[in-house]
Amino acid sequence: MTKQVDDIIRNAGGTPPVDQSQRTLTDGSPVTDDHRELKANGQQKGYVVLSDAERARGFVRPVRRSYQHVGRPGPQFPLRDLTPDEHRQYDQYGYLKYEDYPPERGPLCGRFWTQAMLDAVDKGCGAVTTMGHAIAETYARSPNFYGGTFCCGCGKHLPVGADGEFVWVDNPDQRVGT
Ligand SMILES: [Zn+2]
Repeated sequence: MTKQVDDIIRNAGGTPPVDQSQRTLTDGSPVTDDHRELKANGQQKGYVVLSDAERARGFVRPVRRSYQHVGRPGPQFPLRDLTPDEHRQYDQYGYLKYEDYPPERGPLCGRFWTQAMLDAVDKGCGAVTTMGHAIAETYARSPNFYGGTFCCGCGKHLPVGADGEFVWVDNPDQRVGT
């Protein structure tokens, strides 16, 4: 049944939607409770991927193997100081500045920045990490599958996504995980 539906979607020029529940470890074995335990080099004992069969259903992005640690993206728009009212409401969260988005994004649209967030902007170590094929294919099948990834330069896991710290080596304009 799934195969028939997938074929209909493919014939219409689409890619079958991902089934996020089809997970294994990178070697195809079942996901274990302790796979997140860290080894001496900072990497996990095991990494969850979409299963071979699920990855074979089709990619929505090219399979990219390597990413670079460039640090968190900076503000896109000018920052302003907080108003007295915002200070009263938000000092408890450590917010320092407010980024005002242009009005076409909607009324009162923007985001707050803490000093720690500002300090992390463009502060990647620059190292390039290359993944095994199962993880690379999982990104290609489901670009936002992961919340974080390993940097071999820093020896630890850091966030991916629109506010994440990594870009693709062969497409530096795109953040890993978006
Ligand atoms: Zn790094």
